[in-house]
Amino acid sequence: MGIAVQFKHIAQCALVCASVLVASASSGAQQQSFGAFLAALWSDAAKQGITRASFDAGLAGVAPDPRVIGAMQRQPEYGKPFGSYVADLVSANRIAVGQRKSAQWAQTLRVVEAKFGVPAPLIVSIWGIESSFGEAQEHWDVFRSLATLAFARFQHPLFRDELLRALTMLQSKGVARAQFLGSWAGAMGQAQFLPSSYLRYAVDFDGDGRADIWSSVPDVLASIANYLQKSGWQSGLPWGFEVIIPNGFDYRQSRGTFRQWSDRGVRRAAGGRLPDIGNAILFFPAGAPAPAFLVTDNFNVIKLFNNSDAYAMAAAELADRLSGLSPIHAPWPVHDFQPSRVERMALQKTLAARGYPVHDFTGHFDFDFRDDIRKVQLEYGMVPDGYPSPALLKQLGIAVP
Ligand code: CA
Repeated sequence: MGIAVQFKHIAQCALVCASVLVASASSGAQQQSFGAFLAALWSDAAKQGITRASFDAGLAGVAPDPRVIGAMQRQPEYGKPFGSYVADLVSANRIAVGQRKSAQWAQTLRVVEAKFGVPAPLIVSIWGIESSFGEAQEHWDVFRSLATLAFARFQHPLFRDELLRALTMLQSKGVARAQFLGSWAGAMGQAQFLPSSYLRYAVDFDGDGRADIWSSVPDVLASIANYLQKSGWQSGLPWGFEVIIPNGFDYRQSRGTFRQWSDRGVRRAAGGRLPDIGNAILFFPAGAPAPAFLVTDNFNVIKLFNNSDAYAMAAAELADRLSGLSPIHAPWPVHDFQPSRVERMALQKTLAARGYPVHDFTGHFDFDFRDDIRKVQLEYGMVPDGYPSPALLKQLGIAVP
């Protein structure tokens, strides 16, 4: 599992919960309580139409795995510099392999793109980031991983629900028990879908009757495209562009149509015109003035695949590179500070206490939240770029190393 996929689960990582679990993992009492956990799970599974035979096929002999908890604790935190995160995922090697894969699967990609309205380079990009084009699949037993995380009440009830969905997959989707292999957190196959995503989005595209996201490349490509389409991807709308901000720009402006952005003097960094239609949000991942991006609703759709601005930017950038576009032009700041998860959560709490309408307290930022950061920045006479700088966090009493 790549760094990107791990991002999916970072917000779910509560270190306190994890250390408590590790402390209890070796105790004898745990066997008993895992039995109680399975009994309660069976009761819910039966209500959802899971047969005893399917339940046993999935979970007989499964026991909590301390290595899953260990993997959870080794998760990287938020706080990695944005620019180097993107650069690591969009490596020269991944671009080169992605170009080869794009050529190899060109015919399939044409059909998938036409059917789902999602650009082929973006599909290949996500495939490359999620599993290095299928070459970096992991082989954790999905039932054991999900049962371990559910038993630990990690992100409760997310992993318990995923465990029930895995039983549904086993019972009704023709997925063999031995095929349930994935990341330590249960993300499966070349598309890295959790069971609920598999049930919603996995597609049989090679026509053998099974959505095989582990070994059928046509199924993988169509499943990724279907995920994006069902999540609201708008065909024909770009994800966005790197832009150059004019001198004297009014940084209070964060939203507008592409036409309005043109009128405000904002230009594409790569040259060429901004589109005539569509809306875009101005995004400074590492603070003004650069690098700066105008991003559309489609950028937010990529975030539904993996709720991280850095992930979405890496997927978008790799797609652009696979389309032959030039790399991000502006250099990233030397001190490309990004707040840790704890700092992000503290910032969310602080803004909520000040009366801002905060909808997430797990450290995920959306663009409404970044607009609220702009308002707080204005209060302190700072440039309102929506970027939670060390200076802003200090001003708000949030500790920064
Ligand atoms: Ca298939």
